[in-house]
Amino acid sequence: MNRVTPYGAAQSVTGSCHLVELLGLKILIDCGMFQGEFGLEKNYDDFEFDVNEIDYLIITHGHLDHIGRVPKLVKDGFNGVIIATQATKEIANIMLNDSAKILKEEYKTLRRKAKRRGDEKRITEPLYTIDHVKEVFLKEWQILEYRKELNLSKDVAITFGDAGHILGSAFVMIDYKDKESKKRVVFSGDIGSKERMILDPLDTLSSADTLFIESTYGDRNHRSLKESIKEFKETVINTLKRDGNVIIPSFAIERTQEILWLLNNMQADGELPKCQVFLDSPLATKATRLYAKYPVHLNEELELHAQENGNPFKFASLNISATKQESLLINKVKSRAIIIAGSGMCHGGRIMHHLKHRLWNEKNCVIFVGFQVEGTLGREIINGYEYVKIYGEDIIVKAQVETINGFSAHAGQNDMIEWMSNIRDLKNLYLIHGEKDKMKIFTQKIKEELDLDAKIVKYAEIVEL
Ligand SMILES: [Zn+2]
Repeated sequence: MNRVTPYGAAQSVTGSCHLVELLGLKILIDCGMFQGEFGLEKNYDDFEFDVNEIDYLIITHGHLDHIGRVPKLVKDGFNGVIIATQATKEIANIMLNDSAKILKEEYKTLRRKAKRRGDEKRITEPLYTIDHVKEVFLKEWQILEYRKELNLSKDVAITFGDAGHILGSAFVMIDYKDKESKKRVVFSGDIGSKERMILDPLDTLSSADTLFIESTYGDRNHRSLKESIKEFKETVINTLKRDGNVIIPSFAIERTQEILWLLNNMQADGELPKCQVFLDSPLATKATRLYAKYPVHLNEELELHAQENGNPFKFASLNISATKQESLLINKVKSRAIIIAGSGMCHGGRIMHHLKHRLWNEKNCVIFVGFQVEGTLGREIINGYEYVKIYGEDIIVKAQVETINGFSAHAGQNDMIEWMSNIRDLKNLYLIHGEKDKMKIFTQKIKEELDLDAKIVKYAEIVEL
């Protein structure tokens, strides 16, 4: 029987993992980490399928909610082939190594909590270590670039389309023969909006019988990229002109490179007042190197820039802080610094000491450029808390706080409708990777615009193909 079973990202946005059983093959699409909503403990549960029976693991892109449990999969006996784009493989390498370091710290807290509940048997060691991550990269990898077909068996072939979400991101088209007729099932992975600042746009999908589509922003459209860029530039310029400092909590992949490209342009156009820019995140620095390494995946403007002027993420006022000492030295800069640091939601990392050092001064400005989950310091600052706790100290928030919404790496509602409107003969549509209330709104919109009945799949519910 040909079927798909979701083991994550079903009525939720994390832990993406779908098992496809097709003509005798077992294919896993992504093996992501559960974050936030379920708590980290869910990652420690055993997989609900036979790990050693999986023939192929296909990775759509390098975000942790799509790759974060891959080392656990290998640790638990996965012995198949991993398929990804070259850029995704390299992003996965830096992300999983970083993840292993974080897991080591988190394990202590999780273990304490489990002990208190009398549940210590569940969590006896970190989810995985750096050594397990190494093992992932010793497995057989099959690199597949966009729009090239790869046969998995006589009757099953896959092709990646460019998903325009982050560097190397792909949607997966699986073509197979079903009793002499040709069929196609597609997994969108995460797809990008139509307007991307630095990446090539999303490829058109022209045919599919069945589509599993992400629905993170199924309920809304983003503010336009143009407006968001304008807002960003104005905020930076105004803060620097009053001799303040700009603090940007940023995600290592994609958002940091977008900000660097924007600042590079501002400098080239003479729009950027005199300042020093600090990229203070080892992870973002590594990711930026990867972005510069693959100009072919960047949009035409950046590709041209790379050919004519070199690295699009490098400019005169940019300083890269490699060590902790260099990071701390930034605190000595009194004015006109732009500090880009992680974590993007301010729940750890070097951004913490910058906030502690700068939040109390009304001359400064914190610019949030990505979503802030409930329960993070970033969310508290956005919500207008008068005081926040950093390293056990109460810090008064006097700095200007700005949130810029239009930089999302996810498609908005209209982008997804437009993408689906090009698909010939689409019969079955399943919504994954979204929150249930948002999916319901998306379902109605799909019915109105495309006259299709989209289904919201449940965790571990079998979908027959
Ligand atoms: Zn993603």
